[in-house]
Amino acid sequence: MSLFSGFYQSGQMARLVLPCKGPVLTKTNFLGLVSSSPRQAVCRASCIHRPVRSLTRYRQFFSLETSLRRNYSFSYPSLYRSQEVNKRLICSVATAPSSKQAEELNMEAPKEIFLKDYKKPAYYFDTVDLKFLLDEDKTHVFSKIAVVPADDASASSPLVLDGSDLKLISVKVDGKELNEGDFLVDSRHLTLSSPPTGKFTLEIVTEIYPQNNTSLEGLYKSSGNFCTQCEAEGFRKITFFQDHPDIMAKYTVRIEADKTKYPVLLSNGNLVGQGDIEDGKHFSIWEDPFKKPSYLFALVAGPLESRDDTFVTRSGRNVTLRIWTPPEDLRKTAHAMYSLKQSMKWDEDVFGLEYDLDLFNIVAVPDFNMGAMENKSLNIFNSKLVLATPETASDADYAAILGVIGHEYFHNWTGNRVTCRDWFQLSLKEGLTVFRDQEFSSDMGSRPVKRIADVSKLRNYQYPQDSGPMAHPVRPHSYIKGAEVVRMYKTLLGSQGFRKGMDLYFKRHDGQAVTCEDFYAAMRDANDADFANFLLCQELPPTPGQSVKEPMFIPVATGLLDSHGKDMPLSSVYHDGKLESLAIEGKPVYTTVLRVTKKEEEFVFSDVPEQPVPSLLRGFSAPIRLQSDLSDSDLFFLLAHDSDEFNRWEAGQILARKLMLSLVEDFQQNKPLHLDAKFVNGLKSILCDKSLDKEFIAKAMTLPGEGEILDMMVVADPNAVHAVRTFIRKELALQLKADFLRTVQENQTSEQYEFNHTNMARRALKNLSLAYLTSLEDPACTELALNEYKAATNMTDQFAALAAITQNPGKYHDEVLADFYDKWQHEYLVVNKWFALQAVSDIPGNVENVKKLLNHPAFDLHNPNKVYSLLGGFCGSLVNFHAKDGSGYQFLGELVVQLDKINPQVASRMVSAFSRWKRYDETRQKLAKAQLEKIMSANGLSENVYEIASKSLAA
Ligand SMILES: [Zn+2]
Repeated sequence: MSLFSGFYQSGQMARLVLPCKGPVLTKTNFLGLVSSSPRQAVCRASCIHRPVRSLTRYRQFFSLETSLRRNYSFSYPSLYRSQEVNKRLICSVATAPSSKQAEELNMEAPKEIFLKDYKKPAYYFDTVDLKFLLDEDKTHVFSKIAVVPADDASASSPLVLDGSDLKLISVKVDGKELNEGDFLVDSRHLTLSSPPTGKFTLEIVTEIYPQNNTSLEGLYKSSGNFCTQCEAEGFRKITFFQDHPDIMAKYTVRIEADKTKYPVLLSNGNLVGQGDIEDGKHFSIWEDPFKKPSYLFALVAGPLESRDDTFVTRSGRNVTLRIWTPPEDLRKTAHAMYSLKQSMKWDEDVFGLEYDLDLFNIVAVPDFNMGAMENKSLNIFNSKLVLATPETASDADYAAILGVIGHEYFHNWTGNRVTCRDWFQLSLKEGLTVFRDQEFSSDMGSRPVKRIADVSKLRNYQYPQDSGPMAHPVRPHSYIKGAEVVRMYKTLLGSQGFRKGMDLYFKRHDGQAVTCEDFYAAMRDANDADFANFLLCQELPPTPGQSVKEPMFIPVATGLLDSHGKDMPLSSVYHDGKLESLAIEGKPVYTTVLRVTKKEEEFVFSDVPEQPVPSLLRGFSAPIRLQSDLSDSDLFFLLAHDSDEFNRWEAGQILARKLMLSLVEDFQQNKPLHLDAKFVNGLKSILCDKSLDKEFIAKAMTLPGEGEILDMMVVADPNAVHAVRTFIRKELALQLKADFLRTVQENQTSEQYEFNHTNMARRALKNLSLAYLTSLEDPACTELALNEYKAATNMTDQFAALAAITQNPGKYHDEVLADFYDKWQHEYLVVNKWFALQAVSDIPGNVENVKKLLNHPAFDLHNPNKVYSLLGGFCGSLVNFHAKDGSGYQFLGELVVQLDKINPQVASRMVSAFSRWKRYDETRQKLAKAQLEKIMSANGLSENVYEIASKSLAA
């Protein structure tokens, strides 16, 4: 699954519409390498120059701290239980839905599920035959399951099936209808207290109401189509089932529906039969030859058309590819098809993984809680991540489509063929698959720029809560951090070693539901790797409040720069009493990965002719917070010279963060703000460096986000941070005006839109410069932006100009917004951008404008994308959401209660904007707390929202 992160690009900075921001490193436990304890690695590096012996003594102290800032702990309170002592805590964030009557309005305290509570099922399902009679007011689901007791199951084990919002029509065992008393139904389960001892057939008929299902989980209607979303626990809203990923079965699905209204009937696997039946209805039969868990089940029915293509796998299988949309959107699917074919080719080239069926379907639906879902051979996508034309989609949209199509496709192996045993192992599939899609996007574009973007994301935005991580045991946090851990395996083992580990993982576990340890073991065994020791020291239980942690393993990619800024050749390093050669095939290297495993370690490089400037943690080789004793002049030197583009960017970011924090202090003390000339010159030299990648320049010229700076403050002060960031931007614009103007001119073009790195980079740099210039509110610059807006031939340029103009209030602001809406009102995805742009505005008092937009005819609280654009966008403006009069909090609080009745998953994502309320001053704390309490007291509150709100309050 891919979360819908709803990114919104506003010229010079990317903002996440969904608001929960988090620490870089609260929990990283993924895939068994790093423990789940919240900790920071602090590395101090110092260099002592030894001119005589040509030796640089290079010391590193790594101290690991667990001082999880209390305010960050929201997502994981009460995770850590003392009874976990002997186990590595993988992810005990999940809570079980408590068994309660549906009518009860007061929620019982949710019960937490722990990894240690995992029990092997007493019954497995061998085959599942489903029949759906789809209809306008009710749908009947017939399920026939071949049940097999586990070898070691005791004879008396009850069979407990999950179910939610279902009307049970009948239950049969071996063809015989069960009477009341033979089974038990409550609002969450159907229990057969004494099923037969051997194999048996279970038949269940349920009635459901997809047309009333606004939660968009299970089977629901979206714009005239039936569609499903089953991860994590949606299948239980379709029929009673052991709805856990370790129940893997072969599915056959028969769908019957009205032929005129639903001419297309899709499910997983191969189409094995179709035809007409009475009353204008028709049917289709699908058979999936691969065993799969219920969360990968999918069904789609509706008036759709497809773009068809083919892909021949390298072993010669002819695969039909189909992307389904409403007929009018079909022309917008060319880029999605391109992305799919590129993904299929890449997975063969890089991992040797081929597609395994003759048909691959993608369906785009406008109403979807997430980004997309990897159901076996029938991926379902949020339209935003499929539909694109140069006129209606931006470069960011194109890139997101490429990445997410890849992500879902790559799940076919990492997630579907090898799935996760339980939801504690989510990072097994998500971390690994995110890593794979990051690598794919890197190979398709610029690797350093992609890395910078991913790390910025990691730093600036905590991934939005999927469905309330405590209500549903899906932990979106693990997505991106899990990917970081997979990346460390690769850093450690190298590309070839990593590939060997992957090969062994598939060889051992194809068709199985496995754990993070299994992945770890495959990596270790395939490489005879010695990282067992690191694992041991990470298996200690994380304990809240414990300030000292065992060191964990950290791969630190390092290079040394000479006084000309060139990389020094590294031939050997003295470490742990041994001299290790770094040379590969007799040749020195320029970057080496230091393996830091202790609290304090010393690495002494030999043959170093002069005092170097170290470039540490190249490419962000580990997801840690690095503190070094590099001076400002070292950092400026790295910014100007480092051959590692990530670290070059990073040096600028560190300088900018320091500068911003010191200006924030000045601002709070009413001192005049003054911008350091060295900083301006440093950025100027980047901006004017023709040898650099243009997208890299755009990234390096972008200041750290407000959220990132707020996270570094003891008491978060959004007004001060906003004022300082605005001040620096304007000052840079003023002092570098001529350079920005030249950059805009040099990068204008009327060429046809092309999705490739060179063109995207050019547009990114031009539009960044335009945003800087327009911030000056100088008539000539505004005029320039207006011309750019009018002359634009693609959405990237047009929207960037629009965003540049509308950062300032006034006449043009309103006129251009009205013009844009006029032009694009029939393109709902473009209208969502229009909503987001207005919602995210930092213009003071914008909450009133957002309230008005709620009543705009194009807005609809039932559609997640619109909610993410408008409400999520609003929370993205930290000054307005955290407005000191409480107007932002009140607005969101009221909306959450309203939204919860429609779609609890989306509501819970929105409520998480409050989660870090304790980071703020007392006045804001009071106001935010009052809203949380109000939400908690709302009648009929969903578990999703309850969980987030109550845990936020308790944090
Ligand atoms: Zn995924």
